[in-house]
Amino acid sequence: MKKHLMRMAAPMIRRLMGTPSCQEVNSFLMDYVDETLDAETSERYRKHLGRCGTCTSYLEQYQDTIKLARECRDSELPSDLVEHTLAFLKDRGVTS
Ligand SMILES: [Zn+2]
Repeated sequence: MKKHLMRMAAPMIRRLMGTPSCQEVNSFLMDYVDETLDAETSERYRKHLGRCGTCTSYLEQYQDTIKLARECRDSELPSDLVEHTLAFLKDRGVTS
C-alpha cells in the first residue's frame, strides 16, 4: 500500500521539484515580461504560474504597471504635471 502510494506520488514530487520557487520566479519576472528568457526557463515559469496565485497576481500587477508607463510615454504629459514634478524635485535638491 505504502509502496503503491509512493509510486503514485513520485511523478508529482518530481514535477514539483522541477518548477522554480516563488523567489526564483520573481527573480526572472522582468526577463519573462521582456520575453528574453530561454524556452526552458519560461516553460518552468508558466508551470509555476499555473499553480501559484501569488505570482500570477504579481505578474499581472507588473504588466499593468508597464502598460501604464508605456501609455504615459506615448501620450503627451500634462505640462503642469511636469512643472509640478520638476518643482517638487528641485525643492528636495534632486535637480537644480
Ligand atoms: Zn509563486
